[in-house]
Amino acid sequence: MALPDPVVQPDPVSQPDPPDGGATPSGAGLRPALTDLSLEGWAALGDLPSARSFTARQVRRWLYAKGATTVDEMSDLTLALRQELDAAWRLRKGTLARTYPSRDGTTGILTRLDDGQLIESVSIPEGDRRTLCISSQVGCAVGCTFCASGTEGALRNLTAGEILEQILVARELEPQRPLTNYVFMGSGEPTHNLPAVLQAIAVMNSPAGLGIGARRITVSTIGHPAALRRLAEVEIPFNVALSLHAPTDLAREALMPGLGASDLPATLDAALERFEATGRRLTAEVVLLGGVNDGLDEAEAFGRLLGGRPVAVNLIPWNPVPGLPHEPPVASRVDAFADALRRAGVTVTVRRPRGQDVGVACGQLKRRSDRREDQP
Ligand code: SF4
Repeated sequence: MALPDPVVQPDPVSQPDPPDGGATPSGAGLRPALTDLSLEGWAALGDLPSARSFTARQVRRWLYAKGATTVDEMSDLTLALRQELDAAWRLRKGTLARTYPSRDGTTGILTRLDDGQLIESVSIPEGDRRTLCISSQVGCAVGCTFCASGTEGALRNLTAGEILEQILVARELEPQRPLTNYVFMGSGEPTHNLPAVLQAIAVMNSPAGLGIGARRITVSTIGHPAALRRLAEVEIPFNVALSLHAPTDLAREALMPGLGASDLPATLDAALERFEATGRRLTAEVVLLGGVNDGLDEAEAFGRLLGGRPVAVNLIPWNPVPGLPHEPPVASRVDAFADALRRAGVTVTVRRPRGQDVGVACGQLKRRSDRREDQP
């Protein structure tokens, strides 16, 4: 097994440009994977001796539109071209390690990468929607006190292919229930791996790739102002969700130790710049922790911070994670919190906890698997 890449511990304050995650190698000596190609990078297939002008388009269609998993399935390619393609390229890098089906229809998906690392994605049904929660890093440097992904720091960035393959695998697992929405809310802080995340989003959004509408893609971020400004420059108008969790800088820094110095006014201003550029209403996420941030004082402080701004709040009652020092909030406090926000003129949605019976809270599946608590 190859050694993991060096730990990625970006400092979002002193290092406003997030590090280049797309450069993370894995599986040295293996053929490169087609999923790692940017839209422009597909021109490389023109180097195959039997390639024609339309070869890249054909192969890309097999990979993304038809979901081919082997070169042999590409029946409209000549045998010579299939052999050349197979000798030079892999289709994908990761392999499905395990699934965790929940009684409520949620499915946790664990994928093993070339270097032995595990990443998780979660497929969540809700009415006629099915949302895939996607990881962008192995582990996470932010270390939120309520999140299993942050307990080991960020081990490495995912490549664009490793991000995209989470969609391909989830799509194959449940072909009868198509995915409708995609949220970068799994392990990792997407703006700490922005080049790979943006490359993956470009492939997701392009008709030449997965053809997913920008409105169906959400990037959830801790919201460092410099990173938000970078997102504002991206032409694809995907949604941005801001992880606030607490209404004061001090409380945010305590809950999110890897955030660095929180600056809520600057964060909201930068996020609203993007709102002005795209017209997309901003979402703010608050994970509610019993006795920590679920009081009326916090709700009223959020109301003062967000009232009158084009921001909708998602309240997410915490999904318990064994070993972490928190309790889920009681339902009556969640309701009172939501009511206080509404009184302040803030649009609120309370998310139901999902997949609790199989423990799909962020980072939990990988942790369980690492500890061999549930080996088949
Ligand atoms: S909640 Fe998100 S930002 Fe915080 S440690 Fe987990 S993955 Fe990282």
